[in-house]
Amino acid sequence: MNGEVISVGTELLLGQIINTDARMVSERCQEIGINIFYHTAVGDNEERLKQVIQTAFDRSDLIVFTGGLGPTEDDLTKETVTKMLDLPLVLVKELEEKLEKMLGKEKVSFNIKQAYIIEGSTILPNDFGTAAGMAVRKDGKTVILLPGPPRECAPMFSKYAIPFLRQEQEEYILSKTMAFTGLGEPELEWLVKDIIDTQSNPTVAPLVKDNYITLRVTAKSKNRETCEKLIEAKEKELLERTEPYFIFDYYEEKSMEEYVGDLLLEKDLSVSIAESMTGGNLTAALVKVPGISSVLKEGIVTYTEESKKQNLNVKEETLREFGVVSRETAYEMARGIQAKNQTAYGLSVTGIAGPGGGSAEKPVGLVYIGISDGDKTYVREYRLKGDRSRNITRTVFLALNFLREVILGSPNIEKDVFLV
Ligand code: ATP
Ligand code: MG
Repeated sequence: MNGEVISVGTELLLGQIINTDARMVSERCQEIGINIFYHTAVGDNEERLKQVIQTAFDRSDLIVFTGGLGPTEDDLTKETVTKMLDLPLVLVKELEEKLEKMLGKEKVSFNIKQAYIIEGSTILPNDFGTAAGMAVRKDGKTVILLPGPPRECAPMFSKYAIPFLRQEQEEYILSKTMAFTGLGEPELEWLVKDIIDTQSNPTVAPLVKDNYITLRVTAKSKNRETCEKLIEAKEKELLERTEPYFIFDYYEEKSMEEYVGDLLLEKDLSVSIAESMTGGNLTAALVKVPGISSVLKEGIVTYTEESKKQNLNVKEETLREFGVVSRETAYEMARGIQAKNQTAYGLSVTGIAGPGGGSAEKPVGLVYIGISDGDKTYVREYRLKGDRSRNITRTVFLALNFLREVILGSPNIEKDVFLV
């Protein structure tokens, strides 16, 4: 099936927002074997929207709309699509009742537009807002309407639209992503080149993400179970070559903080964090994980030497002899924060984010990450090559990855210098 995405919203054209909804739809579609051939962004203007819809009807089997399902005048996606499909809008009692529950009886009239759907369409429930999505088939075309806000659009698409689209697919298609770090894309490809070259089902494709590289394994079969079996066998074969670099895998995209946060929660391991260079970003990353408060005890930003001494018991001599960005300081910081909180792990970061502050001996990008469990303390040195902001986000990723390795007892734990 070939599809396209039409994102409706003047904000997109004014450069006020990035079209992340289209990216999300493309990503999910590719996972189930639907080719997305076009992305169009169009303003909240009926005439131009009609033109874009006409073009889409002429060339695509699937058209996914994002945005413009709100209650106000300028939200005109549903109204325009209805006209183009020559289908009426019908009031759905249950949607009206849901609006009443969410907004209160007196406010429903402002949002009543949102209780209407295109006749014959399947409702895609909105678990996070008032605008229902919908999916409808007509004249061999499939049309899907999604709300604009990403936190409504993405879960709706994954949970309700994907199963709807799967019904139209002859074969079941499933992808799993394997994430790797500590080597470059060409090296990874080289390790598995013959597998990639001789692939048929599952297929294997490399892809570079922000902080890691991936192999996406995609299988086609009659149902999910057989796809999973095919994928798992291929994954095993790939891991035989790549194990030391493997970090995690997922069917549905997961970030490093989600992965590590879930791991801490699952194993009920507490953590406390002392950050210098990352200024709170490491703690903030973990805080994004729902439920983390039951294992995250403290995250402090100890930026000055004074603060490191006072809060973490870093010794004056250590700072004087080795400097604030040093293996020894990271060691004492990790020990200090762990001892203070009696957590399963104490995590520390000290480094030079740049652009200033570097020297020949200690260049910009030099980072030490420490982890202590009270008994053993590990410190790793990293040498990063980014600008200030990149060095900070990269360090957050590396610290979480290091913690992941310690929790899982990875064979890499004792490795203490990384060039990245
Ligand atoms: P609402 O009920 O909030 O009005 P809507 O379905 O009418 O939702 P829009 O009015 O088009 O959607 O957009 C609402 C907000 O959703 C925008 O301000 C923007 O923050 C976000 N948004 C809309 N379209 C996109 C998009 N394509 N990619 C990312 N974010 C988007
Ligand atoms: Mg709107």
